[in-house]
Amino acid sequence: MERTPDVETLACRVGGPVLVPGDAAYDAARSGFQTAGRHEPAVIVCATGTEDVRLAVEFARANRLPVAVQAAGHGLSVPVAGGVLIATGRMTGVRVDPGARTARVEAGARWADVIRQATAHGLAPLSGSSPGVGAVGYTLAGGLSLLSRRYGYAADHVRFLDVVTADARPGHVTVDTDPDLFWALRGGQGNFAVVTGMDIELVPLAELYGGGLYFDTPLLAEVLRAWRRWTETVPDELTSSVALVPYPDLLAVPEPLRGRHAAHVRIAHIGSAAAGERLVAPLRAVARPLLDTLRPLSYAESGTICGDPAQPHAYTGTNVLLRDVDEAAVESILGLAGPDVPVPCVVQVNHLGGALARPAAVASAVGRRDAQYLLRVLSPLGAAGPGPARRQHRRLVEALSPLSAGRMLGFLFGERPAEEVRAAFGPADYRLLAELKVRYDPDNTFRCNLNIPPAPA
Ligand SMILES: Cc1cc2nc3c(=O)[nH]c(=O)nc-3n(C[C@H](O)[C@H](O)[C@H](O)COP(=O)(O)OP(=O)(O)OC[C@H]3O[C@@H](n4cnc5c(N)ncnc54)[C@H](O)[C@@H]3O)c2cc1C
Repeated sequence: MERTPDVETLACRVGGPVLVPGDAAYDAARSGFQTAGRHEPAVIVCATGTEDVRLAVEFARANRLPVAVQAAGHGLSVPVAGGVLIATGRMTGVRVDPGARTARVEAGARWADVIRQATAHGLAPLSGSSPGVGAVGYTLAGGLSLLSRRYGYAADHVRFLDVVTADARPGHVTVDTDPDLFWALRGGQGNFAVVTGMDIELVPLAELYGGGLYFDTPLLAEVLRAWRRWTETVPDELTSSVALVPYPDLLAVPEPLRGRHAAHVRIAHIGSAAAGERLVAPLRAVARPLLDTLRPLSYAESGTICGDPAQPHAYTGTNVLLRDVDEAAVESILGLAGPDVPVPCVVQVNHLGGALARPAAVASAVGRRDAQYLLRVLSPLGAAGPGPARRQHRRLVEALSPLSAGRMLGFLFGERPAEEVRAAFGPADYRLLAELKVRYDPDNTFRCNLNIPPAPA
């Protein structure tokens, strides 16, 4: 679409820039953390607030165009081709209410923005491994936080959502104003409305005990087995994961890890350092680690626990929820995604259970709460493109299928088969989501996402 009179009229009414292909700022406005793909919109609306979002959806509706939403760009799935992209990167407002222990978070804020403000009051949001991730997209997909075994999914701690629905109407959604939409938005990610802001609960947390233990390549299997056994013994205050990472031989990587395929056990413990030390003693006893970064740390430093990359790059990845990580699973993980596999794979296994397994105080669409572990596999992409990595990931997921308890929506990266999205929900919940989609977005205007197509009852 060029700068037609329609687009010019839209640009006059919207507070932020409205861009079309060829505009100098167009490429920067559609770029995000994931560089393996990019939205190809006819129009980008760089929204500054709810009215801009409303105008963008109204424009899309009038021109029968699909709408995509992008904040930080970690979760690009289906790129929009020729539709409207709402870029929320200018809506970064965060307002903490220390008395109520809540934060009002605008659509484009990253977790780092929330963490900065919350920790100033001895509070923490239910953020995840990477502070660079967009807070709203993360929360709408469920949100598996560093404190998740104690507090459950981030989506369970949303008090209200401000939205613009597919009919271009702004709304304030709570469990009382619209229980169905409130349920579907928390778990159904971008399928039901554009969220312009959310009000979330924060948790009191001055300090935690956390960091990582890194073990060398010959210990990968032993560490996986020992960690798996150890997870059965820990309280809900301890959330952990183990990652098997092929570290590049680069100066940016800590010297002991350079060029090694290491096991990285990541710990976040809510409690004193002394209690934390006692809890991790069995892991330290497995073998002498290459590196031990466990210490008391403030939540402002929470991004150091997993040390996710902060630079945009190209990747593909998927996940499978597991009922257990048994001996056969350990063999599959190492055989199909370990050091000897030609496609470099980063495998992460999260310990679930605890509050993640309990029903939320206010029900949400976040499903599959009976899984005990989450296995994620991710590969950086080079010249060969996503094909080899996707095939390798599929082999691993198939090998683990006897233990599968579904998928987790937020960790499906790139364009995924419909059955993977479907598997993120129990059958009855998926049917209800598809029916609610008929009510809230019958034309599937919000389809450039991990899509739940409308399906009448
Ligand atoms: C390095 C890395 C670390 C991660 N760590 C965690 C973790 O610890 N825990 C966890 O649960 N997840 C984690 N994730 C997954 C992440 O939460 C999702 O990919 C999330 O969707 C990213 O949001 P974003 O704004 O960064 O991405 P975007 O690509 O900008 O958004 C992703 C999707 O979210 C939806 N969306 C975004 N904003 C809105 C809005 N305002 N209204 C409606 N829909 C919207 C859209 O469908 C959009 O396509 C991680 C991902 C990466 C790459």
